[in-house]
Amino acid sequence: MSVSRKPQHFDVIVVGAGISGIGSAYHLRHQCPGKSLLVLEEMESFGGTWLTHTYPGVRSDSDLYTFGYRFKPWTKAPIASAEEILHYLGEVIFENDLDRHIRYNHHISAANWSSKDKQWSLECTRKDTGETVHFTTNFLWMCQGYYEHAKGYTPEWEGMDKFRGQIVHPQNWPDDLDLTGKEAVLIGSGATAATVAPAIAPDCKHLTMLQRSPTYFIPDYNANDLADTLRDLEVDETWIHEIVRRQVLAKMAEFTHLSVEQPELVRDELLAGVRAFLGPEYDMEKHFTPRYRPWQQRVAFVPDGDLFKGISSGKVSMATDEIDCFTEKGIRLKSGEELEADVIITATGFNLCVLGGIHFSVDGEPVDFSKTVTYRGMMFTGVPNLVWVFGYFRASWTLRVDIVGDLVCRLLTHMKKKHARSVEVAFPPGDEDMELLPWMDADNFNPGYLQRSMHLMPKRGSKPEWQHTQDYWTEREELPRLDLDSPEFVYK
Ligand SMILES: Cc1cc2nc3c(=O)[nH]c(=O)nc-3n(C[C@H](O)[C@H](O)[C@H](O)COP(=O)(O)OP(=O)(O)OC[C@H]3O[C@@H](n4cnc5c(N)ncnc54)[C@H](O)[C@@H]3O)c2cc1C
Repeated sequence: MSVSRKPQHFDVIVVGAGISGIGSAYHLRHQCPGKSLLVLEEMESFGGTWLTHTYPGVRSDSDLYTFGYRFKPWTKAPIASAEEILHYLGEVIFENDLDRHIRYNHHISAANWSSKDKQWSLECTRKDTGETVHFTTNFLWMCQGYYEHAKGYTPEWEGMDKFRGQIVHPQNWPDDLDLTGKEAVLIGSGATAATVAPAIAPDCKHLTMLQRSPTYFIPDYNANDLADTLRDLEVDETWIHEIVRRQVLAKMAEFTHLSVEQPELVRDELLAGVRAFLGPEYDMEKHFTPRYRPWQQRVAFVPDGDLFKGISSGKVSMATDEIDCFTEKGIRLKSGEELEADVIITATGFNLCVLGGIHFSVDGEPVDFSKTVTYRGMMFTGVPNLVWVFGYFRASWTLRVDIVGDLVCRLLTHMKKKHARSVEVAFPPGDEDMELLPWMDADNFNPGYLQRSMHLMPKRGSKPEWQHTQDYWTEREELPRLDLDSPEFVYK
């Protein structure tokens, strides 16, 4: 293994070439064209989530008019396959000549901030050659997502080692998995399970979807009438994108508002949508009536109700129960029922990964992010010149990529004007004793992977500016107007 000792320097390094990294690189090129840029990505290509996940049927669960960028029109059906999203991202890279800024196969393992030099030093391992390479940068734009790409989360169940069949996690789907004529059990109730089930059910002899508790779904057809009408009228795609985005956002705002103000009404409507596919005799109470308020977890869109059509046809059945243990032949449930299986698919979620698993240090002192406090879910006390793009969960993730992109470019321009070489967030006088809380209020939003690993995440303060509020509608007003000379920003 050879070691390169001469670090290359860039004004800005973007970590990750997923939808956040590509969008951030676009904003930097367009809004700060004078800054030198490097995007470091550990995988062999771009796309992040959409490259990692290859399970059958993999698709978005929110619409691409808002999951797509504001600057690049989406021209297809709202819910898109991973392949379509990768194609879209490929076009953004090509049309904006971003490829020359991206280096693939570069895993960043360590980042140290030097207060003396006012720059980050990065240590990377090239996955293709094993070489260690170093870079320095003034500013780190962290777009590494929020979960481990290498391996999904599978709980430890008793007896797993005894099971004679195959256990598969959707995040590591084997290319050669043949389910033809097999009895399969799919553990999970989230968007991934709802996507995998209809995609594999036709091959399986039978598929049982086993969930501990039910989830809300929105079954609807995968089309946007307004977009289709505007297209029939030969309206320019740029206009269609903007108009449909506004329509989707208005509907989303109404849905979010109603979920808080009238959760019962929203709940009844969501359940009615599912019942329409399953019929009046179906045990909705047991299998599709969640215990939580709508919007406390992401609500997955089920295009054309495909999951429910599978259930109606008898090819897919639901089991809502807890796992007692795995057996040689399958799974024993706490109710005593046994589910026989040749293959068990564990759509049980992610392992949260804070800031790409990179070992951060400031002047040689390791940074423990759980001891930092976040400013608006993007900057962290005691960590200079670093922004994390952590998108929205309830609105499309990418909406935040665009507005944080504007803010970072404004911040970089502001620093240049002030001749400042570093910016850090700190509590202004009066806020030092602010109550510190976990990253997210579990009553506001509580997916399993966050619950499991909340202790690793930065803290939030009790004031909204010291939180990731997940509130797109407020942020889209506030972030563009943010006073960059407010006392939270400390420049040096
Ligand atoms: C199957 C699935 C479907 C989803 N559907 C939706 C949806 O419809 N709508 C929605 O809003 N959200 C959805 N999400 C959430 C989704 O992850 C985000 O919306 C979005 O794709 C995240 O993009 P990202 O670029 O921030 O992170 P990622 O897609 O995770 O990309 C991060 C990139 O950073 C790289 N990286 C990480 N660490 C390092 C390191 N140390 N060194 C170098 N490179 C590194 C990774 O290799 C990766 O390529 C979905 C998630 C999954 C898993």
